[in-house]
Amino acid sequence: MRGAVIHAPGDVRFETLDDPKVLHPTDAIIRTAVTCVCGSDLWPYRGAEPIGDPHPMGHEYVGFVEEVGSEVSAVRPGQFVVGSFATSDNTCVNCRNGFPSNCLHREFMSTCQAEYVRIPNAGGTLVALDETPDESLWPSLLALSDVMGTGWWAAEAAEVRSGSTAVVVGDGAVGLSGVIAAKEMGAERIIAM
Ligand SMILES: [Zn+2]
Repeated sequence: MRGAVIHAPGDVRFETLDDPKVLHPTDAIIRTAVTCVCGSDLWPYRGAEPIGDPHPMGHEYVGFVEEVGSEVSAVRPGQFVVGSFATSDNTCVNCRNGFPSNCLHREFMSTCQAEYVRIPNAGGTLVALDETPDESLWPSLLALSDVMGTGWWAAEAAEVRSGSTAVVVGDGAVGLSGVIAAKEMGAERIIAM
């Protein structure tokens, strides 16, 4: 398969890589429909974060399930799925208490700017849609893979509720998702700066 690999600041190459395989019975393999560049990918790209050895990039993705491990029953091959950048099993104590991003078996996704991706904890991490959405919606669904969840959590952590005034500092993708979330939670005034 082909995938993005960062070698040095300003040096990202689209290379031939080994196809990912199911390594654990809780894994799935997906074929990416769309994937994207996160603001945090730009830190190493700009030289603001050490890179070390060349490595694949990307943690935002939607795609089609290709294969599942023997313990994955929540999704099946052929389904269109949205997944999180932080994997979660949906069964541990942290997941059951509503904090899946702190799953005891969490692994951070880091190889998603590629044609195929191995998803650990697939049963808790991937959400399947009832049917394959129109391609025009794929970029919007991609936002659910990281920025919308992060912005939503920010509004929830700020305890936005009906009638609140919400102030969002930073109007990048996460901040704008925070604005949407605050509106959904009933904020009366939203100040974004
Ligand atoms: Zn968990």
